[in-house]
Amino acid sequence: MSESIVVAGAGIGGLALALQLARAGAPVTVLEKRTALVEAGAGIQLSPNASRILIDLGLGAALGRRAVEPARLSVRDLGNGRKLGAMPMAQAIRDRHGAPYWVILRADLHAVLLDAVRSEPGVKLLVGRQVTGYAERDDHAEVHLANGNGTPQTLRTPLLVAADGVWSTLRTAIGDGDAPRFRNFEAWRCVVTRENVPEGLRAPDVVAWLGRSAHIVHYPVAGGDAWNIVVIVRSRAAVEGWGLPMDRDKLDALVARLGNPALHDLRNLLASGENWRLWSLFDALPAVRWSTPHATLLGDAAHPLLPFLAQGGAMAIEDTAILTRALAAHPGDTRAALMAYEETRYQRVRRVMEESRSNGRSFHFSGVTALIRNLLLRHFGMEGLSARYDWLYGWRPD
Ligand SMILES: Cc1cc2nc3c(=O)[nH]c(=O)nc-3n(C[C@H](O)[C@H](O)[C@H](O)COP(=O)(O)OP(=O)(O)OC[C@H]3O[C@@H](n4cnc5c(N)ncnc54)[C@H](O)[C@@H]3O)c2cc1C
Repeated sequence: MSESIVVAGAGIGGLALALQLARAGAPVTVLEKRTALVEAGAGIQLSPNASRILIDLGLGAALGRRAVEPARLSVRDLGNGRKLGAMPMAQAIRDRHGAPYWVILRADLHAVLLDAVRSEPGVKLLVGRQVTGYAERDDHAEVHLANGNGTPQTLRTPLLVAADGVWSTLRTAIGDGDAPRFRNFEAWRCVVTRENVPEGLRAPDVVAWLGRSAHIVHYPVAGGDAWNIVVIVRSRAAVEGWGLPMDRDKLDALVARLGNPALHDLRNLLASGENWRLWSLFDALPAVRWSTPHATLLGDAAHPLLPFLAQGGAMAIEDTAILTRALAAHPGDTRAALMAYEETRYQRVRRVMEESRSNGRSFHFSGVTALIRNLLLRHFGMEGLSARYDWLYGWRPD
């Protein structure tokens, strides 16, 4: 029997929520199916709409030590290496949005969240606990789970929050959304040490190379000791699994396509990467209803996104701030709090989903459409590019 709020999943969203709730005085039990909480070593971009929430939770110093604040976003042509546009970041982002734009290893972000959660007496973190289902009762929810040796167990809670990621077990039981669909893209990711980054690419920037049916993004992580590389290509069929070791031939075939001499450094950067991993990319429209009287969804479980705006983790973090505020604003009325949470989040995540999809199309344009995109990028200039993201990065939970 547990009267604490139960959170399913100790990913970015689940841990950030546990921290928010504990700070608001609510006891929380987090159930995580994995037994070892080690994140795959790829990087993540944390835009100011998310970083300000983590800073408000007191994590600014710990994250700042491990993250990098990129000097600029630089957009380049994957065909000929030409610069298409640039946007100042670092201090310019702080001045514009009042919070930093960080790039960081997921493992580092996760470690900071875990340390903070473990030092909260109000949070019980149970690993090796797989949530298998739930039942709605008159005044509570029953959470069904299996522990490490498969023994079934039931917990009683006033509120279940399913933060169990894109492959959520609880999505369809709680909400009315569709299962995520494969969107014919796959991402290859790896991290290389600084020595492997060619001198010409060592600027502390987020660099996006846009090309026909492929784009590449790289940025420094681990305080500048390493670089994260993401390659996104078109793909016919989804590979089953998540973050799987990847067939090196795929990468070699792409590198062979990058024949222009101006891409020499980029080719070397890609070739130096080892242990590439692959993610087939899925998204789904956010559910219109994603709560019941005693259960709700959060993060990828509620609204899995394509990563072309680098916002999936950020949206999960935003969700945690809004859900915590909604619960505080409706003490003793979980149903009203969950309705307010859904209502506040729906339009925002819907817009982010649509913009992510739109970027997925335009990043891979070829021929005339690529020419028009490139002209527009030049036309926007630095101020234009910065202003384009005000709606996204300037967001505040209040
Ligand atoms: C290629 C790529 C690049 C990306 N880049 C960015 C980026 O730059 N910026 C950004 O903000 N986002 C990015 N994202 C998206 C981001 O990684 C996700 O949106 C984010 O991890 C979602 O957080 P979450 O807490 O909802 O889910 P997750 O982080 O996936 O956590 C879910 C947790 O639930 C656990 N779990 C699952 N099922 C159960 C169960 N039945 N019982 C108990 N536990 C369970 C899992 O083990 C996991 O720990 C990217 C994604 C991809 C694929």
